[in-house]
Amino acid sequence: DPRVNGIKTKIRVVPDFPKPGIMFQDITTLLLDPKAFKDTVDLFVERYKGRNISVVAGIEARGFIFGPPIALAIGAKFVPLRKPKKLPGEVISEEYTLEYGSDCLEMHVGAVDKGECALVVDDLIATGGTLCAAMNLLERAGAEVVECACLIELPELKASHLLPYHGYPLLGRDRLHGKPLYVLVEYL
Ligand code: IMP
Repeated sequence: DPRVNGIKTKIRVVPDFPKPGIMFQDITTLLLDPKAFKDTVDLFVERYKGRNISVVAGIEARGFIFGPPIALAIGAKFVPLRKPKKLPGEVISEEYTLEYGSDCLEMHVGAVDKGECALVVDDLIATGGTLCAAMNLLERAGAEVVECACLIELPELKASHLLPYHGYPLLGRDRLHGKPLYVLVEYL
């Protein structure tokens, strides 16, 4: 799709953020361009409308930017998956491992009903740990995760402590337990 290249050119790469050696993919520059932002949302909407998805779950924080316009356009509810201690109601939690240490996502009890079809949205997949935790939350609530959707897929070269490194890029998508992943931009 010709729109993908336009989107790609609007994503800024910031070296050494938030720490030395990290090439940070910054989508805030994409948001400054109304056409590229709209094209991004439209591409996801074209893929997911009419597929009986009743829940769009967005991961804090950048899943909160792209998830809601997709949810509105396909007629689904939006459910925020948040970092610990942000949601005021009763929650279920999923811990997951990061390169150093661990993190956690939470979802409100009652936000999702058993049997609902869900789409998980975030800006970027690296190791896949965040998307895995998100899917676990939805499945624990009885929802069926149809697919995960991200703007950007990075090869996850630094996870040699998680899996043996065989000289080829490890991909977070291989850790999603076979769940389909849809990405607009791949950096391989
Ligand atoms: P993963 O759990 O290793 O797949 O990391 C994905 C999570 O880290 C997502 O929630 C992303 O928003 C965030 N993340 C990691 N690297 C970047 C980046 O370069 N730009 C923006 N977000 C990133």
